[in-house]
This record gives sequence, structure tokens and C-alpha cells, in this order.
Amino acid sequence: MMRQYELVERVRRYNPNTDEALLNRAYVYAMKAHGTQKRASGAPYISHPIEVAAILADLKLDDSTIVAALLHDTIEDTEVTREEIESKFGKDIAVLVDGLTKIKKLDLVSKRAEQAENLRKLLLAIADDVRVLLVKLADRLHNMRTLQYVPEEKRNRIAEETLDIYAPLAGRMGMHDMREELEDLAFRQLSPDAYRSIESRLVNLREKNRHLIAEIEGELTGALAAKRIRARVKGREKRPHSIWRKMERKAIGFEQLSDIYGFRIVVGTVEECYRAIGVVHTRWPVVPGRFKDYISTPKQNDYRSIHTTVVGPGRQRVELQVRTREMEDVAEYGIAAHALYKDSGGTPTEMLSRDSGAYAWLRRTIELLAEGSSSEEFLEHTKLELFHDQVFCFTPKGRLIALPRKATPIDFAYAVHTDVGNSAIGCKINGKVAPLVSELATGDEVEILRGEGHSPPAAWESIVVTGKARAAIRRSTRSAVRKQYTGLGQRMVERTFARAGKPLSTERLQAALSRLARSSLDDVYAAVGRGEMRADDVVKAVHPDWRGERKAKKEAPRSEGWFGLSRGSSLKFRIPGFRGSSTPNAPSSPIPIRGINGDLPVRFAPDGGAVPGDRIVGIMTPGEGITIYPIQSPALKEFDDEPHRWLDVRWDIDEAAAQRYPARVKLMCSNAPGTLAQIAQVISEHAGNIDNIRMARRSPDFTEMTIDVEVYDLKHLTAIIAQLRTKPVVASAERVNG
Ligand code: MN
Repeated sequence: MMRQYELVERVRRYNPNTDEALLNRAYVYAMKAHGTQKRASGAPYISHPIEVAAILADLKLDDSTIVAALLHDTIEDTEVTREEIESKFGKDIAVLVDGLTKIKKLDLVSKRAEQAENLRKLLLAIADDVRVLLVKLADRLHNMRTLQYVPEEKRNRIAEETLDIYAPLAGRMGMHDMREELEDLAFRQLSPDAYRSIESRLVNLREKNRHLIAEIEGELTGALAAKRIRARVKGREKRPHSIWRKMERKAIGFEQLSDIYGFRIVVGTVEECYRAIGVVHTRWPVVPGRFKDYISTPKQNDYRSIHTTVVGPGRQRVELQVRTREMEDVAEYGIAAHALYKDSGGTPTEMLSRDSGAYAWLRRTIELLAEGSSSEEFLEHTKLELFHDQVFCFTPKGRLIALPRKATPIDFAYAVHTDVGNSAIGCKINGKVAPLVSELATGDEVEILRGEGHSPPAAWESIVVTGKARAAIRRSTRSAVRKQYTGLGQRMVERTFARAGKPLSTERLQAALSRLARSSLDDVYAAVGRGEMRADDVVKAVHPDWRGERKAKKEAPRSEGWFGLSRGSSLKFRIPGFRGSSTPNAPSSPIPIRGINGDLPVRFAPDGGAVPGDRIVGIMTPGEGITIYPIQSPALKEFDDEPHRWLDVRWDIDEAAAQRYPARVKLMCSNAPGTLAQIAQVISEHAGNIDNIRMARRSPDFTEMTIDVEVYDLKHLTAIIAQLRTKPVVASAERVNG
């Protein structure tokens, strides 16, 4: 076990001005706080923080970081409070220890998906101070090194988390040695057989090539020296995990792996890097496609080096990295190394907050994450395949909701609870009101606004991406449709009773249920609403002597299709007495107009339909819904005998009409050249849209034109007709209704 004086000695070696008293105070304080606590290995607990501090001392970090490492488990695991640490060690250190405590609490979360929260909070914690993350990585490294003492059932989770989150994070921060060690330790836990097999082959290979590394090192050093390049050449074996990954990635066996060995050439200057590469390439054949110059184009994490692979001594393929000493430190210590290359004073944090490459990357990532805009890139690199097809959002209370990519706030609402989804009428994303159809991004905080007695529009079904939301919408829509048909049926039954001059008594109707072969009043109404039962028959069931209103039953003419109302439509019908829910947020709502009456469709009569400004009437058709006719429409004659099907409806337009409606105009025109062009011009000058024109020659002199034109409202249509009448070629112009 490492001793306190050894730690101080290590720190003093790179930092002669270290505050030894501070380090000692922190050590004594932590030791007292942990008291008789033991590690899983049985060692006194203090052995852990001191090892963590030692790892950070190897990274040559400042006193605050070392002290924070010594204290990192005190708040969470002992009686110590943040306030006490602040009063004894100052605010800087208290903030660091507090950040670590927060991360530690999250470590208790064991569900895999929830590690994303872990990850995010982890990053947000370092938004203030990157040293929190450095201590955390060192803490994890020591815990991984002592994983064998941890209870069996916890080991895999810790190893998975290490492989998923901490190792990639270390890599992204440029700390490759730490990354490799974390990966190896996790790999050994998660795939012990594979690890052992690779390890034993490495042992064999080491035996066989006992002198190979030294030989190549010698040859390289000699060749470079001959060209007057002073270089430090260091060969090494690849680590089991990186060999394993390569075997997986390339689907090859261990024997086929040619570059188990890697050599690093460290020189003084960038210029020497290129000269060294020249020496190597003239001497040994280059393996094509393996040359990469990360000096002229550094990696995102500030990594710089030249990579190449040559067929070296003994026909052995050898991977080479050429770099300067500074690049070497950055590659090994990553962010921590930037502290070593400060040109002026200042703490590492101050250094790091300047625009040094590695920290700039981290800073950007944190900013992106904090903005909640796009953390995709980070997730893709850090969490690899586990998370990149998902987004992670939060409820206002901080609950994490994992959703597939492209999920909407509607999906979010249903993921929280079906009731929340069913009553959702709007949302706030990160505090701002947003459409329910927005695409969510990782880190978004989503608040769902709910409306009383609201039910989800059927159109949502095609917007959502989660199965849960889709199923819930379908279920709710079905019951909403039934409710609407029940309402329609009830209204028709009431009207029929009124026409028959009989009072509608629910008691008597209840008593007649068996005659109607239905078990409840609602069933009767729903059956009438759907057209499975006639309203007349309901009256007859109660009053068998009544003869009925009429014999022949006529249907409303079938239209060629529903008039397509687009999203954001401002049109609403107010149908007195019709029990339908309306959309509370209609004007800006992206929900199609159908939503206004639940899911009972409202449509326009197909030919020469109504335009706003027309007096209109609705005709109820069981099983279909309501068809809107302009009051002057000849088609209404069909329903003269069925007054119980008529509904008073009227326009209810909230804002300046932006929607167009089809109307039909019939013209009688003289057969002169250019007539059609003139008519088309009049219509387009008045902002009408021509949908369709049919022409029929009625005589040698006259042609009848039927023009379907889209207009905003009656005033618009009337203006167009008036303009048409002013043209000499137009003998007459009339609106027609189907
Ligand atoms: Mn710890």
C-alpha cells in the first residue's frame, strides 16, 4: 500500500512548490473520516483514496486535484459535509469533492439505460471543472484494478460501465494509456476466456520473439542516428483488448494479426518527425494505405503523430508512431498534459480553460450538451453503438426518459404515462413552448401541458414513433369514436322522438332494451349512430303503435372523398347540441381539422361545396358522419323527409382565412379566340386557384364552361364572379351547387 510520504514525494518531484502541509492535512482528515472502514479487499479504506491520488500524481496534477482525490469519498461515505470541507480546505476543493459526490451517487443507478443520465450528469459536473472528471477516471481506474475483491454480481456491471462510458471518455480526452488499461481490465472481466487466450498467445509470442523488440529498437535508433536524428525509440506489444478488437473488426484469427508490435519514435521537433519518417520509408518497404499524418491534421482530441506501417526487420510488420516529446505527453496524459506546457503561471484549470485543443473539444461538448442541441457526436463516440439510435430526455423532475431517435413530445408523454399522453395538448422543451410534433434531442427537458377531458387526435398515430404511444392512441381513438357515434345516435333518437310527438323517457327506453337486443342505452345510441339501427325503430320499441316517420331511407350521396383539410387549419364547426370535444389549441395546432369532432368525420358535399360566408347545414349520416352543404344546395331536397338528420352548423373561423375551399362557377361564353385565356386571367388576377375546367359547346356561338375554383370565402368568390361578368366574352356567370 502506498504511504502518504511516498505520495508527497511523487508530487514534489514534478511540483517543488507543492503545499505539503495541505496534502498531509487532507490525508489525515480523510483517514479519520473513513475511520475503521475497509475496502472489499479487507485493506483500510484510506488505501483507495491514496492510490487514486497517486494515479493523479502520475498525471502531474495540481495540489487541489490531489487533495480532492484524497477526500473524494468522504462526503458520500462518511459523516463529513461539504460545508466542513469548505471551511477546512477552501471552496475550490469543496466544489471538486462535491462534484465527485454527485457522480458517485449516480453510480448506484444500475439499470443500463440509465447510465446515460450518469454520463450526462458526469459531464455537466465537469462543465465547472474538468478536474472532477480526472479524479473520477482515476477513481474508476483504481476500482477496476481491484475489481477482483468486489462481489461477483457487481463486477460485470462495473466493467460494462467502464467499457461503455469511462474508457471512451478517457480516450476522447486524449488519455490513451488510461483508456487502454481501463479497457483491458474490463475486457478481462467481461470475456475472461478470450482475454486468457490472447494473453497466453502473447506470452508464447514474447518467448519466441524475445529479442525482436530490442532488435527493432536498435535498428531504428541506428538508422536515425546515421542521419543525425536523436530519437527515443520504444517498442511495445499491443494490449489484449486492442488485439481482440482488431480480431473482431477484421474477423481474423490471432495468427493472421501481423502488427502485434508497435514502435514509437520520439524526436525533438516537428521537422525531425518528417525526416525520421523519410529515413524509415527509405529503409523498409511501406505497407500501403497505413500512412496517416495527424501532425498536419490533428485529431479532434488534439492528438498529433505520424502513423505508418512498414515491413521491418525479420519480415515483421511493424506499426510506427512518430511524434515530438510534447505530442507524446499530450497523447499520454491528454488534458492533464496541457498543464505541463503552460508558458506562464496559473492553475491547470485556468490553463485548461484557455483555448487549448483538448479542453476546447471538451468545452464544446459540454456546451452542446448543456444547450441540449446536439450531443449526437459525443454520444456516438463515447457510448458507441449502445446509444446512438436513442435520445435521452428529462422530465421537469429529472426523470430520464429514453426514446428512439426521431421521437416526439407525444412519444415522451406516453412514455411517462398513458394518461399524460392522452391529455397532452402542448409542451415546453427546455422551458420554451414547442409543437408536439418537434423532434426531441438528447438532453432536452420536456414538460407536457395537459388539457382536461381531452382525447388524442387520430392523426397522432402517424406522427409518433414508439409502439406504446401508437397503441395508446389507437385505443383512445376507438373509444373516442364510439363516444362520438353515441352522441350522434342519441341526438338522432331525441329528434325522432320529438318529431313523433312523444316524450323521451330514459326509464321507458331502458325497459325496452331487450326488445332492441341491446344491453345499455349507450349501446342503443352507438348502434343508431353507426347506422346499425334506425332511430324510428327505437321509438317503435317504446311506442309500438307509432307508424314511423317514413319508409324509404335515403343516404346522403356518397362523395368522391373527404375534403382534405390540412394541418394548421383554422376552420371549425360549431354544432349546437353535438357532443364533441374540440381541440383547445386549434389555431396554431398542427392537428387536422377532424380533431374538432373527435374522430367523427366532417366533410363537405362533393360538388359545389360550401365556402366560408355561405349559410350551411349539416346532414348526419349514420356510420359516416356529417356532410356540410350550402343552404342553397339542390342536393338537400333529398333529405327533406328526414328532418332528424339535419343539424344547424355554422362557420367558426378564428383568424384571417388562409385555407381555400372549392366552389363551382358556370359560365356561358362566346366562342371567340382567347376567351379561355381572358377568363383564366381574371380568376388569377383575383387570386383564385383554378382546379378544373370543363367545356361543352352549346351552340355555334356559345360554350358552357364549368370551372372549379378555390377561394377563401364567399366574398372572394362573389368578387371573382362579378369580375367575370364584366368581360364582354362572358354572357353569364353563376355559382352552382351540387
Ligand atoms: Mn472512490
